[in-house]
Amino acid sequence: MWVTIMPEWKNYELDFTITIDYEKCHACLPCVENCPTKVLEIDEEIEKAVPIRIEDCNECCACVLVCPEDAIKHSSC
Ligand code: SF4
Ligand code: SF4
Repeated sequence: MWVTIMPEWKNYELDFTITIDYEKCHACLPCVENCPTKVLEIDEEIEKAVPIRIEDCNECCACVLVCPEDAIKHSSC
């Protein structure tokens, strides 16, 4: 399967973006476990984190801070 290495998701209502470096992400879970609004999940097929509920993101920056690989970039953090 072809996977974009640096996919970006945008919340158009709040005007921010989340980018995850898929060369660094290895589905280790801290971002999923520490997101207070359950935005992130691991896509089992590609074994990467995906912000599937970006509309619920409150821009707290926890995912950026806990990722051990520095894989997540959030335009508000
Ligand atoms: S914490 Fe970082 S490396 Fe781990 S699943 Fe989340 S984005 Fe990927
Ligand atoms: S910034 Fe906060 S609310 Fe948004 S995805 Fe990351 S941990 Fe979840």
